[in-house]
Amino acid sequence: MTTYTGSCHCGQTAWEAKLEKDQASHVLCHCDACKKLSGSAFTLNQIIPKDAIKVTKGADSLKNYKYKGDSGNSVNCYYCPNCTTHAYHHQEVMGDKVILRTALLEKAGSFEPAAEVYGKDRYKWEKEVATTFNVMPPS
Ligand SMILES: [Zn+2]
Ligand SMILES: [Zn+2]
Repeated sequence: MTTYTGSCHCGQTAWEAKLEKDQASHVLCHCDACKKLSGSAFTLNQIIPKDAIKVTKGADSLKNYKYKGDSGNSVNCYYCPNCTTHAYHHQEVMGDKVILRTALLEKAGSFEPAAEVYGKDRYKWEKEVATTFNVMPPS
């Protein structure tokens, strides 16, 4: 288990995430919500237990943006109200797990891609870099 630090663009909020060795990797998500929220072709994520992330700076200032996910259940996005960086997400269907944005962690540049989800929404010109699931892997 290694502790990684993450922060938003403006530095008003910061957090620590404890990752097991096999969690120190990126899961690429190509879904349309990720495209909108990130303004990019895909996002980089890892699913971790809620208690493995600790907001160390500006916890009180993190805002919650809520939307309905594919499942019809709510997705809560926690973001910095000043620069709008999304620190992590919580899908109500996921119980006590949260989705961490791995690209916001220091040293995430050394992480390898572990899987790709929502491959059905991947842009045609993007090359496959890891095992791809059409939507989500069977759980
Ligand atoms: Zn910020
Ligand atoms: Zn997504």
